[in-house]
Amino acid sequence: MAGLRGALIVLEGADRAGKSTQARRLVEALKERGYKTEGLRFPERTTEIGRLIGSYLEKKSNLEDHTIHLLFSANRWEQVPMIKEKLRSGVTLVIDRYAFSGVAFTSSKENFDLHWCKQPDVGLPKPDLVLFLNVSPEVAASRGGFGNEIYETNSFQEKVSKRYAELMEDKTVNWTLIDASQNIEDVHRQLKELTEKAIEDAKDKPIGKLWE
Ligand code: ADP
Ligand code: MG
Repeated sequence: MAGLRGALIVLEGADRAGKSTQARRLVEALKERGYKTEGLRFPERTTEIGRLIGSYLEKKSNLEDHTIHLLFSANRWEQVPMIKEKLRSGVTLVIDRYAFSGVAFTSSKENFDLHWCKQPDVGLPKPDLVLFLNVSPEVAASRGGFGNEIYETNSFQEKVSKRYAELMEDKTVNWTLIDASQNIEDVHRQLKELTEKAIEDAKDKPIGKLWE
């Protein structure tokens, strides 16, 4: 008899929505509750591809826009064998950003459409739940300024928000919108509850394929 698989849980949302804070807390809380759980993040800057991405984001190198888009996607694909192995061995994965970020960011550039941007990520392991942490630009701004990375400007982040909204219209993806302007504890409690339910729902289902 096959063992029960873990769930693939993704956190998305604007800069400073609280993704990294909540991802860390969620992993800890799930472990405490007895679920085998690990956290991942994209981009994963420690691989060779990840180093190219890091250098681009930090404005230390310039890369052509299609090229950087494909590198972000490749950075996810290179982790897919590990992701599938973990899920199949019963580990729940909490991922800080996934393909939705990749698409929302590139499609916010001139002359990129959403359809083209999605194609390289078609067929990735499909998240069982995508938690979208929703905050207004004003609330995000109250949590500190931007860093110096390439996408960290108000005008670009506004476009990114619109693209996320378009992606959320796709009902083949299990989106849940969370009011992330609440305090850290309240957001955490909701994420934990939703995730525990997703783990129960996913455990005897096959791993899906994104956007197929
Ligand atoms: P993201 O990963 O989405 O960019 P972070 O988790 O790094 O966001 O959070 C950005 C900043 O906002 C951090 O200083 C964090 O402590 C703070 N923060 C996160 N969530 C909340 C919240 N619900 N209320 C107030 N501040 C928060
Ligand atoms: Mg973060």
